[in-house]
Amino acid sequence: MAESLDNPSPTLQRWMTGPRFTALPVRAAGHPAPKLSFEFFPPRTEALEQQLWACIERLAPLAPRFVSVTYGAGGTTQARTHATVTRIVKETTLVPAAHLTCIGATREEVDEVARGYWEAGVRHIVALRGDPPPGSAYEPHPGGYHYAADLVAGLRKVADFEISVAAYPEVHPAALSPVADLENLKRKLDAGATRAITQYFFDTSTYLRFLDLCLAAGITAPIVPGIMPVSNFAQAVRFSDMCGASVPDWMGRLFEGTENDPETRRMIGMVVAAEQVRLLQANGVDEFHFYTLNRADLTYAIAHVLGVRAGSGTSKQG
Ligand SMILES: Cc1cc2nc3c(=O)[nH]c(=O)nc-3n(C[C@H](O)[C@H](O)[C@H](O)COP(=O)(O)OP(=O)(O)OC[C@H]3O[C@@H](n4cnc5c(N)ncnc54)[C@H](O)[C@@H]3O)c2cc1C
Repeated sequence: MAESLDNPSPTLQRWMTGPRFTALPVRAAGHPAPKLSFEFFPPRTEALEQQLWACIERLAPLAPRFVSVTYGAGGTTQARTHATVTRIVKETTLVPAAHLTCIGATREEVDEVARGYWEAGVRHIVALRGDPPPGSAYEPHPGGYHYAADLVAGLRKVADFEISVAAYPEVHPAALSPVADLENLKRKLDAGATRAITQYFFDTSTYLRFLDLCLAAGITAPIVPGIMPVSNFAQAVRFSDMCGASVPDWMGRLFEGTENDPETRRMIGMVVAAEQVRLLQANGVDEFHFYTLNRADLTYAIAHVLGVRAGSGTSKQG
């Protein structure tokens, strides 16, 4: 054969001279599993209701410290959030967190909804400004809470809720500046929130840089990364465009050619999210919030990769 150690083939030469990456560490045996939380949306139809509850039943044995339910503008959507959260209280041992927004309601109305949650046994609120209908600019309700920081302060007066707020590693699209957005996050935490949950992101370095900025701004509360497992790439691109999350080119290249192949897309989505959480874990992050989209499979598998096992019990507190 023509090649020898002195004269390696071009292929071997490329392998021998390319960059070297050390392996990502795996969580050591005996090291505590990370704390997880799962986000659901309230179902609109009977079929979606069944999908949600199948998802909850599958994920519940992972003992998340809380599960949150999103909130939309408008009466029926709000009623669905309430119905889902109260069913979680009544039928499971999970700790629910109800999302609540400032949109389209007076302070008194929002306080009333919060009081209703407290009476139903809900002790955790994810306090948000909310978004106006697509195509219109945000206008605070004249008698309402204008921004999430105001809502947090209002909720503190209603009851002794645990309160989480939103954070944006890539800066909220309507922020006056990155610094103003960080100051806003600090205001929300100073008003009484105890953690921030981030908008999802795909480049881990963006999040890690954001943590540095938070620390430099005097923020000390946990900034829990929001993880979005992607199985429908085209939909993720559309949604990311609306909420100001960037989709890196490398991700497009990983998914290219899978438009009509949902099974392969799901597997790629698993690889992307698993790499992301492992990299975060290697960087010391041990709390994760999953945007489940009411589907259990990817979230369950990623939690497994992180070292969370059904029945082994991450803490539901703290
Ligand atoms: C984890 C998470 C969960 C979410 N859940 C929901 C949900 O259930 N329902 C829903 O409708 N939406 C939800 N959203 C989306 C959220 O409502 C939008 O991103 C919304 O545009 C901003 O909400 P916020 O709470 O971050 O707002 P805020 O913190 O109030 O900030 C909104 C914008 O206003 C700016 N700002 C704040 N205060 C001032 C001020 N005094 N003057 C000028 N500018 C100011 C901020 O910099 C920012 O640009 C969620 C987002 C995240 C990250």
